[in-house]
Amino acid sequence: MKGIGGYLKKSYLHLIYPTKCLHCHVLLPPETLVVCEACASLLELIDPDERCRVCFNPLSSQEWRCQTCLQYPSAFDRMGAAFDYAGPAASLVKRLKYGQQPYLAKGMAAFLVAQWDRLRWPLPDVLVPVPISWTHWLERGYNQSALLAEEMGKLLERPVWHVLKRRSGDYSQAALTLEQRQLLGHQRFTLKKKYDLQDKTVFMIDDVMTTGSTLQRCAEVLSVGGPKALYAMTFCRTLLKD
Ligand SMILES: [Zn+2]
Ligand SMILES: [Zn+2]
Repeated sequence: MKGIGGYLKKSYLHLIYPTKCLHCHVLLPPETLVVCEACASLLELIDPDERCRVCFNPLSSQEWRCQTCLQYPSAFDRMGAAFDYAGPAASLVKRLKYGQQPYLAKGMAAFLVAQWDRLRWPLPDVLVPVPISWTHWLERGYNQSALLAEEMGKLLERPVWHVLKRRSGDYSQAALTLEQRQLLGHQRFTLKKKYDLQDKTVFMIDDVMTTGSTLQRCAEVLSVGGPKALYAMTFCRTLLKD
């Protein structure tokens, strides 16, 4: 009876709110989840072999590290992402971040775990989300990176520590020059003293990596705690043009 009831409820809800694919907006049959079959088939994990093993930028040669990482050592031991910021993956990020659809984090975290497995990274001791500013939290009601970290933590059976504090009065980074961004970045994060990161393998989790400057700032602050290794995993990353 429960099954029939559940089915009826679902069908009924679909009559009132026909569900559409998050990406292409085609109407979905009742049993489908958030994207249609065609869009789901586009969700292909990035092949780690084609990326710099440190910063995960596309490689142009046979080296395992890109030129940038050779010249400027990263604060991270490894960075990775499940998808490039395009197509249905980008739509998922936007819906999670701006569309008031926090429940998406669970499914998205499954992709993070799949990519973690593919990268053959070690199990982390702790996961640390990139904090959002208080003003963004008030707008959104949740931190999308924290939701991803919590869901990934559940799958890996590892704790999530909210080690970093972000100052309020944050600016939208898009309008700033690189120099201004770096200047702000240095002041933006602080380490909470009650957590002991000494000799821990730490995974930083964020929804999307753009220039990587936010993650680098976070890593610099985390390094003060003396972790054994620092990794960064994001759901998407935008492709850098240079
Ligand atoms: Zn679709
Ligand atoms: Zn690199």
